[in-house]
Amino acid sequence: MSTTNSTNVPDQYAVFGNPIAHSKSPLLHKAFAKQCGQHLSYGAILAPFDQFEATLKTFIEHGGRGANVTLPFKLEAYSLCSILTPRAQAAGAVNTLWFEHGQIFGDNTDGCGLIRDIVNNAGFALKDKRVLLCGAGGAARGAVLPLLECQPAELIIANRSMDKAQELLIEFQNHGTLTAVPFEQLQGPFDIIINATSASISAQRPAIPDSAIKTDTLAYDMMYAAQPTPFMQHAAQLGAITRDGWGMLVEQAAEAFFMWRGVRPVTKELLIRENLPAG
Ligand code: NDP
Repeated sequence: MSTTNSTNVPDQYAVFGNPIAHSKSPLLHKAFAKQCGQHLSYGAILAPFDQFEATLKTFIEHGGRGANVTLPFKLEAYSLCSILTPRAQAAGAVNTLWFEHGQIFGDNTDGCGLIRDIVNNAGFALKDKRVLLCGAGGAARGAVLPLLECQPAELIIANRSMDKAQELLIEFQNHGTLTAVPFEQLQGPFDIIINATSASISAQRPAIPDSAIKTDTLAYDMMYAAQPTPFMQHAAQLGAITRDGWGMLVEQAAEAFFMWRGVRPVTKELLIRENLPAG
């Protein structure tokens, strides 16, 4: 998209969610803007649960150029877009919006952020590996196509509610080798296990059998927190290599920044979360 701005007013961006106070997106994007010499502001906007559309439209009317969207609005944001990138279309959810010529454009950078973090940052190949994706919500949905594009030997989806896992299977079955299996029927071990459930938020872990984990399994939790999540702690006890979703957060933000501004920030320093400048 065009980044021309002939005034001194910074281009406005914001993240929308509910809750939103915890979001690190403003700090990440401010750091990217400084690094890339981009003149922009980036705020955090709390949208009432039933007023996402109205809140977004007010932002656009006041000159907003683009936005990130987080829980619980990714599906609603998808439905408001007039133009979607192929990966947003496949995911059925968007986390990145921009506004041009009276139209809302939507993208989903979550899956791309996940893959970059696993492959480039953590150094794990996905090609020809047995990969288990736990969960079938918005985050898992955004990850399926990017994971399949890496050509794993197998991609297995396990979810508490099997009907949702089956839905993903039907939607993506033509894109690669994909299976949906209940947790209790999983046949391990796996090379990479991605926890895309929200179990960690309530200090729980998905019911993955211990046999799914071997000593060099990468146990990746999309959630990030100050302490390892219960899933990561349990996997580490079984000898797995663990990683949380901080790097995914940084990479999805960098990809959104690239979509908006046409320049790609270097993420290396921010992968160490202590390097994130305070607000
Ligand atoms: P959703 O609410 O869309 O989906 C939640 C999923 O978790 C469902 O599959 C649900 O299963 C499952 N689930 C919830 N509780 C449990 C439990 N106790 N045991 C097993 N499964 C459970 O959430 P999202 O997909 O948006 O987010 C999932 C996770 O990914 C969150 O932790 C979020 O923070 C993280 N995330 C991280 C990002 C990053 O950049 N690092 C980006 C996006 C998300 P069921 O269908 O049976 O209800």
